[in-house]
Amino acid sequence: MDDCIFCKIAAGKVPCNKVYEDKYTIAFLDINPAAKGHTLVIPKEHYETMTDIAPAVMQSLSLSLQKVAKKVHDGLLADGYNVYINNKPAAGQVVMHAHFHIVPRKHDDGIRIQWPQKRYGPGEMEDIKSKVSGAVTGNDRG
Ligand SMILES: [Zn+2]
Repeated sequence: MDDCIFCKIAAGKVPCNKVYEDKYTIAFLDINPAAKGHTLVIPKEHYETMTDIAPAVMQSLSLSLQKVAKKVHDGLLADGYNVYINNKPAAGQVVMHAHFHIVPRKHDDGIRIQWPQKRYGPGEMEDIKSKVSGAVTGNDRG
């Protein structure tokens, strides 16, 4: 992907503040952090969303996430951390190269990750459960 900033970072064509790298993944500090130490963990290969990521890469990426989360948490003496990913613009994805956020947290740091809670109507939860559990994706077909 010629125009993808994260592909350029992964290829070393654009500098970053790298905190971790292995065969499939690279992790670096977000330049617009929610908190100091906010880190992005990305696959080196270009995939748009989490569900696009090849299974072998996702397995490696999961272990990288765990390692980097521990580095962020322990290295910064954080009280906690959030791990999240925005998939597609409707969910807030801006750079269309899949990337996980690790945000170190302190008690009373003022960061709020919250939403107004909804309620299911009668029978609605069963209907939603059927739609979700019955969904077939490319990865399920394997
Ligand atoms: Zn990319």
